[in-house]
Amino acid sequence: MCAAQATSSLDTVPIFSAGKWIECNTARTATVFNPSTGQAIAQVPMCSAEETGRVVQSAVDALPAWKETPVVERARLMFRLRQIMEERFNEIAALVTREHGKTLAESRAEVQRTVEMVEFAAGIPAMITGETLPNIAAEVDAETVRHPVGVCVGITPYNFPSMVPMWMIPVALVCGNTFVLKPSEKTPLSAVLIGELLTEAGLPDGVFNIVHGDKECVDALLTHPDVAAISFVGSTPIAKYIYETGTKNGKRVQAAGGAKNHLIVMPDADLDISVKALAASAFGCGGQRCMAGSIAVAIGNIGDPLVEGLSDHASSLRVGPSEDNEDVDMGPLIRREHVERVAGYMDIAAGEGAKVALDGRQDFAGDGFLIGPSVIDQVRSPMQVARDEIFGPVLSVIRATDLDSVLKLGRACPYGNGASIFTRDGFAARQFKQHFNAGMIGINVGVPAPMAWFPFTGWNQSFFGDLHIQGSESIHFYTRQKMTMTRWFASSDDSHQDPVWKTERKD
Ligand code: NAD
Repeated sequence: MCAAQATSSLDTVPIFSAGKWIECNTARTATVFNPSTGQAIAQVPMCSAEETGRVVQSAVDALPAWKETPVVERARLMFRLRQIMEERFNEIAALVTREHGKTLAESRAEVQRTVEMVEFAAGIPAMITGETLPNIAAEVDAETVRHPVGVCVGITPYNFPSMVPMWMIPVALVCGNTFVLKPSEKTPLSAVLIGELLTEAGLPDGVFNIVHGDKECVDALLTHPDVAAISFVGSTPIAKYIYETGTKNGKRVQAAGGAKNHLIVMPDADLDISVKALAASAFGCGGQRCMAGSIAVAIGNIGDPLVEGLSDHASSLRVGPSEDNEDVDMGPLIRREHVERVAGYMDIAAGEGAKVALDGRQDFAGDGFLIGPSVIDQVRSPMQVARDEIFGPVLSVIRATDLDSVLKLGRACPYGNGASIFTRDGFAARQFKQHFNAGMIGINVGVPAPMAWFPFTGWNQSFFGDLHIQGSESIHFYTRQKMTMTRWFASSDDSHQDPVWKTERKD
């Protein structure tokens, strides 16, 4: 299949192997939907272990030439890719909206973050240099250099179909590795577009490949003897499985998992700014972000005005189909079943004694997977809404008396992705930054997601591994060091008696 046709007219999403778009031969498929309309838009194959192995082989075959390609040339390809992405920016964003459902503005923001990953990767030659220490022992020099690890695999979630694969691909490639992407079966079309863009930028055949599938395909990747490294982003139970299985099979693994993020509002916070920031954090992308605020903690007497402000603001948001529609603040969720699951939390919360201040369950025209934003007040930490990753537009509000109880909530939370505080008080902000049990902290920032140049530092059950995605940690993940000790002797060889070889020790 020709790459240019790939995203526009296909019924079955192709795999990409050795530079060719191939229809995978399998009876098992999953359906890709347009969440705005509820319509099926493609079938995605569930590749067998055997087919998966063939795709890995293409990355194996391309590795020797690619890793010997000078790093500056590999980086130069990123400049070309960036140019193409700028030219096709709106097309990439529209495809994200088509298969995911987030608003066009949110998709453009996602693509902007994607472009920044390419910009970061273009600078890798300056960051991948080794270290030397001459004369570490008498006339012995020590040096380290970074080598690629080999064939790298990315297994990605549905919620950022363009950005999350590109958290991995540009860095892995410029570091000299070849790559196999296994995108989410719910949003595989953006991955196909990534393949087209890389091809257009001039990437040699086999350096980047795509395979589709579920557990069978993923297990084949996790156990394949020629796969060196696995990058995973998704839910916590699968992240843990990927980490355990991958490392047991000798791979290096970075596996980012789910989250339950806290947003703290101190009594001195600017109410208007806090309400807008909390709503954007909790309801942006329909709450389907690993950095989405899920629990607001209102300290002291700000509780009542905060709940009122959040409910008023959230009920003013325009919810509707997002495809070809700029007049919408919140689009649909990924699937009908997910809407039903999220809606179910209203009754669960009420049954446990919480108060549903704003109920997002409404009738919407059309067949899109729509639900409005919800605010649940009087939530207490043992309740299910306070514990589960809902991954939808539901903000729970816990009332608390002081910052110490917030720190306690953080210590009790099994996750550790993000947390933010809204305050005008520097000391409260400092205490929170220093002591809250999460890896990414916002101070008057609702979504403290790091940009490409800084690592995505989830803690606890939000991350399994040690080297995180993004920033310099990602370069360390995608390279292995080689250390060389060198000693040269003054030669006693006759040829070296010639004065041209003569040096003096400069002691
Ligand atoms: P998911 O865990 O269901 O799927 C992620 C990937 O794993 C997909 O490619 C999927 O095909 C594969 N997979 C699913 N079940 C599998 C199994 N049994 N065996 C092997 N592979 C399997 O996640 P999702 O629903 O696509 O994405 C949402 C989740 O991702 C949320 O929990 C969210 O918090 C998380 N997420 C985390 C981050 C982060 O940086 N921590 C970023 C984005 C999303």
